[in-house]
Amino acid sequence: MELLKERIRNDGKVKEGNVLKVDSFLNHQMDINLFGEIGKEFKRRFSDAEVTKILTIEASGIGIACVAAQYFNVPVVFAKKTQTKNIAGETYTSQVESFTHGKVYDIIVAKEFLKPEDKVLIIDDFLANGAALLGLSKLVKDSKATLVGAGIVIEKGFQRGGETVRNAGVRVESLAIVDAMDENTGTITFR
Ligand code: 5GP
Repeated sequence: MELLKERIRNDGKVKEGNVLKVDSFLNHQMDINLFGEIGKEFKRRFSDAEVTKILTIEASGIGIACVAAQYFNVPVVFAKKTQTKNIAGETYTSQVESFTHGKVYDIIVAKEFLKPEDKVLIIDDFLANGAALLGLSKLVKDSKATLVGAGIVIEKGFQRGGETVRNAGVRVESLAIVDAMDENTGTITFR
């Protein structure tokens, strides 16, 4: 998606540890016009698929998923990162190792929001090592819903997540794939 790549080139910042900072438009301050274009592009790429629910993970995925959901006309469910007392009844749970924080945490979704008849599209901001996506896929699998695929805004193609998740049989559509980043020059190379 050219518009997105241009924005990453202009406003993305390469940080140490292979972290791409895009918090001026994607995951802190959010450019909603851009989110609209991202949502339309996900809809175009998954136009052949029947989607009944979008699943994402708090916090960064929520805004993107909500805007995209308007084009799919389906509800959004977000996986919560901590066990809260607000969730009544049973939950699906899976463990995720955070790329940015290095911690392992549980993600949970109430069973009432993922049903076997659901056709689920996962949406997230980044794909790095694939832990978040695999964790979300497990929740879908445990619920016996159908996983239609995953829409990712930025895939870091030099990390193993894309390959791992695709090898696990998940259809992944990434709107921008970064093949290399140079911390010193700030250069970002796209596939
Ligand atoms: P993974 O589980 O695929 O290793 O990492 C995905 C999650 O880590 C995403 O949900 C995202 O929040 C975060 N993440 C991974 N790499 C980056 C990055 O380069 N920049 C930012 N801002 N977040 C990242």
